[in-house]
Amino acid sequence: MARVGILGGTFNPPHVGHLVCAQEARDQLALDRVVLMPAGTPPHKEIADDPGAEARLDLCRLAVAGDPVLGVCAVELERAGPSYTADTLRVLHDREPGDELTFIVGGDMAESLPTWHEPREILRLARLAVAERDEVRAGDLGARLRPLHDGTRIVFFDMPRLDVSSTDLRRRVAEGRPIRHLVPDAVADEIAAHGWYRPTAGVSPTEQEHHG
Ligand code: ATP
Repeated sequence: MARVGILGGTFNPPHVGHLVCAQEARDQLALDRVVLMPAGTPPHKEIADDPGAEARLDLCRLAVAGDPVLGVCAVELERAGPSYTADTLRVLHDREPGDELTFIVGGDMAESLPTWHEPREILRLARLAVAERDEVRAGDLGARLRPLHDGTRIVFFDMPRLDVSSTDLRRRVAEGRPIRHLVPDAVADEIAAHGWYRPTAGVSPTEQEHHG
């Protein structure tokens, strides 16, 4: 039996915010390991400037390389299109019924849990670990989500605030600004080697307008 944390996201690209979030969840919640789990690419391409699901998975692999307690999980790439979290957790649970799963989210995402597909099933299959340093907000959030669980299925952990997002990183690359130190070196090198996120690599006209 392993205590496994799962950090889902698009990881377009993965960055230090994701890695610190995964690391702090593992440490504070005494998990054996945490995996980054990139989402598949939806058929109608909702992911901005997406180099492709396999490419995002590779970037995740590079991001965690050498870390003994972080890994990746490719289960959402096995099915085309978007996956419901409940379905993904069911697959993971069926594969390793003995594992104790913890699904990790930021505080903003946890707010919307009641509107997710099958929220009670999600909390039956996994604990929800919420990155929230503000105790008042954590208390409110805990109370708001209480109808969905018995009081033990939602846990909070703390992390230093890192104001970095994949959106900002894509914009930086498009503008020719550096991303080194905001992502692991291997991730920066891979993005540069493929020319991902540069305007010539296919930024949509609407995004280019934003970049001026
Ligand atoms: P985008 O800017 O493209 O929307 P993102 O940077 O928010 O992407 P996601 O792949 O959507 O990254 O995030 C995956 C998970 O990581 C989510 O649970 C999100 O709350 C969390 N996360 C993202 N950025 C940070 C950060 N800077 N600090 C802590 N958690 C983060």
